[in-house]
Amino acid sequence: MFKLLLLFFPLLAFSYPESDHFNGKKFFNPGPDELKSFWQVLKWQIIGNKEEWPQSVPNKNYPLRPLGGSEKVSATFINHSSFLMQLPGLNVLTDPVYSERVSPITWIGPKRVRAPGIPFELLPQIDVVIISHNHYDHLDLETLKMLDAKYHPLFLVPLGDEKHLGKAGIQNVKALDWWEEVRVKDNRFIFTPSKHWSARHLWDKNECLWGSFVIDNGTSKIYFAGDTGYSSHFLDIKRRLGVPDLAFLPIGAYEPQWFMKAYHMNPEEAVLAHKDLEAVKSIAIHFGTFQLSDEAIDGPVKGLKEAMEKHQIPKNDFIILDQGQALVY
Ligand code: ZN
Ligand code: ZN
Repeated sequence: MFKLLLLFFPLLAFSYPESDHFNGKKFFNPGPDELKSFWQVLKWQIIGNKEEWPQSVPNKNYPLRPLGGSEKVSATFINHSSFLMQLPGLNVLTDPVYSERVSPITWIGPKRVRAPGIPFELLPQIDVVIISHNHYDHLDLETLKMLDAKYHPLFLVPLGDEKHLGKAGIQNVKALDWWEEVRVKDNRFIFTPSKHWSARHLWDKNECLWGSFVIDNGTSKIYFAGDTGYSSHFLDIKRRLGVPDLAFLPIGAYEPQWFMKAYHMNPEEAVLAHKDLEAVKSIAIHFGTFQLSDEAIDGPVKGLKEAMEKHQIPKNDFIILDQGQALVY
């Protein structure tokens, strides 16, 4: 009931200085406005052609292991855009989602078809949680509350989302504007742009910012793209912060293109982003767990393989992990 009420009574908005992506009331993407109207959403729902997904897909079993002494980073795929990143002396979670559904209402909306690749109770100490934006498949308050109660990590969120975490009783929160950064131990966390939008309910569209993150500890540079359309921000980020060793890039939620393209990359665009960034290695995110769009469950994986062949990307340069599987280097 409370969640239903929230749909109609938005939380009070904070105010931020105006910028090239904030007009005093709402955030926006620099460039032409491509926000979809309510009627376009309706059109997609009526004429859209959703491929059928399976009800559930089993995970393989991968044991979680701590970071080895000489290893720079271990990245374990939990699901969707949730990753555990183990860096020397620091564990980070990206957009952690453990809820069954990614929706404002617990009994309706996209339901997970895969269990998280690391059960919540097996997560190690978590020091920092980064949140790319407030869509339910990225900002899952139930998961954040569990993490806060168990590990009391620092939560780094886009401007505006501090109010959602504050309402949930989470206090160790830092809200960031694009290009702002915080230091945790010797790790820089820089909040960087993406081309996307935000909303938690019907009336708060773009009251909170969205973005991506660069984590730089001096030995490794990691880029987490969040949700994004393909745009020039990848080149900007490389120009300002350098080439990432590891880039987490979304490859799913791209059909139908007329509706999704502005704010979600398809696999080929993810390959172009990988090339723009000149990432040493990229890892695919945002596919295979929640059906958010029309493509088949295996569409993003097939599409990525085709796009890599077309653009002559070596097989190990852009990888897809199983749930629970880790990339270590
Ligand atoms: Zn999103
Ligand atoms: Zn998403």
